[in-house]
Amino acid sequence: MFEKEYKNKTIEVRGYKVVSGESKLIKIPIDRLPTGTLIEIPVYIFNGKEAGPTILLQGGLHGDEVNSVELIRRMLINKDYKIYKGCVIVVPLLNVFGFLNFSRDMHGKDVNRCFPGSKKGSLASRMAFYLMKEIVENVDFGIDFHTGGEQRCNYPQIRYTLEDERAKQLATIFNAPYQFASKLIPKSFRNACYKHHIPILVFEGGESLRLDRLSIKKGINGTLNILRYFNMIAKSVVIPEMEKGIEITNRKWIRAKYAGLFRTIVKNGSAVKKGQTLGYIMDTYGETSFKVKTPYDGYIIAVNNFPIINMGDAIFHIGQ
Ligand SMILES: [Zn+2]
Repeated sequence: MFEKEYKNKTIEVRGYKVVSGESKLIKIPIDRLPTGTLIEIPVYIFNGKEAGPTILLQGGLHGDEVNSVELIRRMLINKDYKIYKGCVIVVPLLNVFGFLNFSRDMHGKDVNRCFPGSKKGSLASRMAFYLMKEIVENVDFGIDFHTGGEQRCNYPQIRYTLEDERAKQLATIFNAPYQFASKLIPKSFRNACYKHHIPILVFEGGESLRLDRLSIKKGINGTLNILRYFNMIAKSVVIPEMEKGIEITNRKWIRAKYAGLFRTIVKNGSAVKKGQTLGYIMDTYGETSFKVKTPYDGYIIAVNNFPIINMGDAIFHIGQ
């Protein structure tokens, strides 16, 4: 499916050309702060000498999802992007504004709901527009790195578009602990790329504003698996052996039946059996303690780490 004839190509971003065998850091000016400070987005282009696919690795589409930024940064300092074949386009932090404001949004808007964007729209919409026009146009496929929301910790997982057979194949090559097809969300980055026949994997690991060592490690290893599969990196790069990831076909959130203090007793990522107690919801004065049980067998793929829970809050994400 990926055995197409790749050609050596010159990558052009914002008028800067990067020929085969060349690496460049390009800073794309995106906006000015009210103080006049110029805001730029750094984009690295590592163009190998030999022909191969062009891959986008993107972090920080949501500005507070710091694991995505950190895992890309680590690969940069580890020189993991020494590319021999094909090309890797790396965007370490797309949403600079969200990062500065500890927010997933950009000026109050979710960039991941603004695609394909417009040239004259809000900042988030312009960001989406230029990402599609300047970067995506160059790539064969990509990995978009994310984390769970605030206090909601995703066990490392890779998500792909059900309708896209190539995306599923890439997810299997990536080999995260869990993988599953997820629906295309209107106006999302993955949806816009799908319309351009560009498969995008979404990696999710950990939670926003908290670095998670396991997620960073799994994200890096998965990326290296992809680069290795297409022979883009040196054979000497060591990738730790990983167990084969588990394919999830059905997912459900368990919601709180009570309000109160919430405490978990199971590890994120673990296998659970129907009827097993996963945690407790207690009142604040020691009168009640309700067990939270799983209604089915499965794997815990996300946990809500917030200790104060309201009725109906999503607390455990179970995959089957
Ligand atoms: Zn996200």
